[in-house]
Amino acid sequence: MTLAPLFFDLDHTLWDFETNSRLALEQGFKDLGLASLGVADLPTWIRHYEAANDHCWAEFRAGRMDKATLRGRRFELALEACGAACPVGFPGQMGEHYLAHSPCQKTLIPGTLEVLETLRARGHRMWVLTNGFDEVQHLKMDNCNLTPFFEGVYTSDALEVKKPNPQAYRLAAERAGLTAAEFKYVVMVGDSLESDVLGAQQVGWRGVHFAPAGERHPEAWRTIQSLPELLDLELKA
Ligand SMILES: [Mg+2]
Repeated sequence: MTLAPLFFDLDHTLWDFETNSRLALEQGFKDLGLASLGVADLPTWIRHYEAANDHCWAEFRAGRMDKATLRGRRFELALEACGAACPVGFPGQMGEHYLAHSPCQKTLIPGTLEVLETLRARGHRMWVLTNGFDEVQHLKMDNCNLTPFFEGVYTSDALEVKKPNPQAYRLAAERAGLTAAEFKYVVMVGDSLESDVLGAQQVGWRGVHFAPAGERHPEAWRTIQSLPELLDLELKA
């Protein structure tokens, strides 16, 4: 029996991005005195930040905003939307606070450690393939003790290509040292239908869609609503 090599996405799949981001925003709300600038309360701040952040990432993906601009701009837009004061240099300072605090949060998606322990005990070889900034993704994984489960962590930052570009999966497999035979048996697990399932399936991998809200896409090889369901799948060649 040949076990499938496993590739995992990180954000929203193992690392609870949404909860951790909100914890970092809460810390910033207090540390940087947002109430005194006129932000009504924490839920209002989180709501406007998340909307501004989505907008900035859409601009980034469209090539209309660079990484350095995005980091401060999302806070500037959120302050504006809250009707709060925005002192010169403040969005940059908030961006730095967020970047310093967010990767230090330790909330994992339920079942993460138990599932990884079990898969490792069964003998699976595992890697992470994530669209994200290199330093940030490594920091998150180290802080949550995820790093030892994986033979390698490949970020779009380091690979210089993002999922779902087919080159991202091929480069990751090449760096992992997978043979052409092993390449065909890879299973990729992630929350993004486009990046973790369809993109992976395009190069011949099998995609497991982690869909905690319960959505179903028949194109995915398999769909799971919770991580422990992964342990019931046939993850073999
Ligand atoms: Mg994800």
